[in-house]
Amino acid sequence: DATAKRRDTYYAASQRKFVPFAEPMVFKRGSMQYLWDAEDRKYIDLLGMNVCISVGHSHPKVVAAAMEQAQTLTHCTTMFYHPTPAHLAEELAATMPAGPEWVVHFTNSGSEAVDLAMTMARTYTGNPDLLALRTAYHGPTAAAQSATGISGWRHPGMPGNVAFVAEPNQYRGIFGGNAGAEPYLDEIERTIASATTGQIAGMLIESVQGYGGIIEMPKGYMSGAAERVRAAGGLYIADEVQSGFGRTGDHMWGFEADGVIPDIVVMAKGIGNGFPLGAVVARKEVAAPMAEKFMFHTYGANPTSCAAGRAVLQVIRDDKVRENAQAVGGALLERLKGLKEKHGVIGDVRGRGLMLAIEMVKDRKTKEPDRETTSAVFEQCRTQGLILSKSGPYQSCLRMVPPMCLSMEDVDQVADGLDRAFSDL
Ligand code: PMP
Repeated sequence: DATAKRRDTYYAASQRKFVPFAEPMVFKRGSMQYLWDAEDRKYIDLLGMNVCISVGHSHPKVVAAAMEQAQTLTHCTTMFYHPTPAHLAEELAATMPAGPEWVVHFTNSGSEAVDLAMTMARTYTGNPDLLALRTAYHGPTAAAQSATGISGWRHPGMPGNVAFVAEPNQYRGIFGGNAGAEPYLDEIERTIASATTGQIAGMLIESVQGYGGIIEMPKGYMSGAAERVRAAGGLYIADEVQSGFGRTGDHMWGFEADGVIPDIVVMAKGIGNGFPLGAVVARKEVAAPMAEKFMFHTYGANPTSCAAGRAVLQVIRDDKVRENAQAVGGALLERLKGLKEKHGVIGDVRGRGLMLAIEMVKDRKTKEPDRETTSAVFEQCRTQGLILSKSGPYQSCLRMVPPMCLSMEDVDQVADGLDRAFSDL
């Protein structure tokens, strides 16, 4: 295939090698939760093109808004005033919990937003050290890598001053199954005491870890972490790049499930429904000291992406997208639980809303991760018309993060397809 040949010749190995399937896949079109490949075969996109497609591939309202903006003024650098990003900033601030005054700094991607949040926390507190979870993924920029616990994503020579805390994984965490939040909150204090200077700028937490394998923060963990980090002088930074915009079904933001009010919220992916856009939403006083030096993202607040972002927010509201994620995700989770009863290789099924995962093990007692079976099921699902993603620190989880317009009929197709894929092993 000409596309595959061209890609393989001209992409750097670092980008070329990141191909999940054994055979190249060329997609030519998408509509809502579906994709079509070069041979016109149809797939359900359970990957949501990496969680970016929140309301649907080429959603007509998002495309129309972006087209209209692109035809009028494609780009207007953020040193000038433009109504579209100004409106979006107001609308994003309005999605935050009541109480603090919220302000927005637009970026182009999630990792830029993470990077900015880390700088903001260090600038505001004057402290050097950050905390992050061992199975966290926060992005590819140098600073975001330095806060990414999964070692396969961290390259040599990244900046330091990030200490890693044991993740409160309720399936295979260091305190065993269903240990709750408490022992892991003690781990935060222990890590601050043993692995930092004691001068804490903040802690980054994904409300539901994505690449970590859909690890939900247990009840009380986010609020408890915020308490402990603030007691040490730091800020609570919520990474909502995957878990935001209603994906967890119960709330617009993942952190809301625990009633915690963060100091800084990082968002991207779903905000643009595929258009490159990220943002840091912070308490006004937290963002203020950074203005003493310059910080300028050339494409930040790009009107075309922001027009898409505004349309996404409107569709989420008008089409009850979060509510759909809750209902359809709940039904899918039930079907996944049924698959666990039937197939011994499934060790755990978990998640909420449309942020779900199946974890494969060689033995349910030892919980030894089964990377090979995960890969085999993943490949098999492709022939069933399902695009999933492998994740987790052992690549032993199949993650499902589809466009949030997934329907009840799709649920049957997904569960039946997975069932056949497991049976065919
Ligand atoms: N945070 C989380 C939780 C993510 O999943 C990602 C991307 N997978 C990022 C940050 C980085 O976002 P981007 O790839 O847009 O830089």
